[in-house]
Amino acid sequence: MTYQHIQVPAGEKIVVAEGAQGVTVPDHPVVPFIEGDGTGRDIWRASVRVLDAAVAKAYGGNRKIAWMEVFAGEKSFNQFQTWLLPETVEAFKEYLVGIKGPLTTPIGGGIRSLNVELRKQLDLYACVRPVRWFTGVPSPVKRPQDVDMVIFRENTEDIYTGIDLEAGSPDNVKFKQLLKEHFPREYAKIRFPDTAGIGVKPVSKEGTERLVRAALNYALANKRKSITLAHKGNIMKYTEGAFRTWGYAVTEREYADRVYTWEQWERTKAAEGEAAANAEQKAALASGKLLVKDVIADIVFQQTITRATEFDVIATMNLNGDYLSDALAAQVGGIGIAPGGNINYLSGHAIFEATHGTAPKYADLDKVNPGSVILSGEMMLRYMGWAEAADLIVKGMDGAIAARTVTYDFARLMDGAKEVKCSEFGSAVIEWMDKPALPLMPAEGVATGVKKPIKRAVKKPAGKKTAGKKKPVKKAAKKAATKAKR
Ligand code: NAP
Repeated sequence: MTYQHIQVPAGEKIVVAEGAQGVTVPDHPVVPFIEGDGTGRDIWRASVRVLDAAVAKAYGGNRKIAWMEVFAGEKSFNQFQTWLLPETVEAFKEYLVGIKGPLTTPIGGGIRSLNVELRKQLDLYACVRPVRWFTGVPSPVKRPQDVDMVIFRENTEDIYTGIDLEAGSPDNVKFKQLLKEHFPREYAKIRFPDTAGIGVKPVSKEGTERLVRAALNYALANKRKSITLAHKGNIMKYTEGAFRTWGYAVTEREYADRVYTWEQWERTKAAEGEAAANAEQKAALASGKLLVKDVIADIVFQQTITRATEFDVIATMNLNGDYLSDALAAQVGGIGIAPGGNINYLSGHAIFEATHGTAPKYADLDKVNPGSVILSGEMMLRYMGWAEAADLIVKGMDGAIAARTVTYDFARLMDGAKEVKCSEFGSAVIEWMDKPALPLMPAEGVATGVKKPIKRAVKKPAGKKTAGKKKPVKKAAKKAATKAKR
């Protein structure tokens, strides 16, 4: 395709891998990028140097990314009077893999959020957020080193679909009239019908299955130990509950020889007793099978703090995943270094992005942490199969942070830190790619003060909230405690 506003550099296209998931990447791929608004400009300048340095060091000049700037946000609005240049979407479609900085959310415009719009237009159904701790990063928990999780958040459905009818609007009135006429029992459940805004929460079998498959493929390829389906199925039975049901079903149907599920455990327990079910699970895990389990969405916030080692890959729905990924990021240093990728594993399309916003008060001060975009780039390189370059970025980040060469956000929480600018942090990451790693340091920061985490986590809420089945609380609590021990 020819573009009017986008300059296409010399290079080749990334294409979908034939017959398999993933992409085939030439040595000089054209990769579209959006630098982002506000602090995005500083962050992109620092990050692109890190990404280029990692590729150059890993492949000695045989591979190089041909960066292609595409436009969205304020830059697009100022230059082309549109928040999202249609060519930008076309470029992401054509070149498959790209990266972006944070974008301002237009106020009063036709687009609710540029990020949501891009995800929607490219059908980027999996939002992947790895959450791991870098040695020395200040953390509010005692053992941030226990946090090593990857969230697979469904990105296209749920309450985020955008069927959101404002109270008093003609559409809202029409919709409620329809409810009143055709679903009187449901209408009667609305406590204040005259003033209620209405949102709709579609969750489908196909949407659930492709997300859970993506999580399963990732977990198996990366030798992770478990997948937890996080849902609120005890309350929203036909959306969140169905996510759990369909998630287990696709797992058992398509991955039976490689997984062991808590559904299997339940069936064996019912047929042969708990000891047999425990023995079966133990044998399955010892043989290298992946454990697939589930948890209610509210208790997952507690347990990922108090029993972090029990969580590995988490597959969940849109809203749960949005909350959970920021909450988990807080355990390992906050959104300043939390990366993300929005991926359609079937079409190969992927956009990697910072998870924080534009932090406008720090714009152009060369101050903020570029870690989120740097690590999003690291995810992108891994997705492209350039693992050696990705590993160098992790090494560089590890080294720079362990040496306490950090931006203001970490420096204000670390003893003996050397506060550096955004650009200087980028340079430090590049330098540490070549240096030997420093010895490990303990975590810093404020401990949570939770004294008996496991006991507290299991005792009350877990029983009531496990699996969403109608069971006496006492029995369910016993079951949850047993599972926790397994
Ligand atoms: P924000 O930009 O994420 O900033 C909130 C706070 O987070 C900052 O004040 C700062 O905390 C910290 N922070 C953010 N980025 C950081 C970085 N790189 N390094 C260190 N600390 C960082 O959230 P917001 O102020 O609510 O949103 C501003 C704009 O961004 C809005 O237009 C919003 O819609 C948009 N937004 C975009 C995205 C995206 O494009 N992915 C995501 C979220 C929000 P301290 O002040 O404590 O240092």
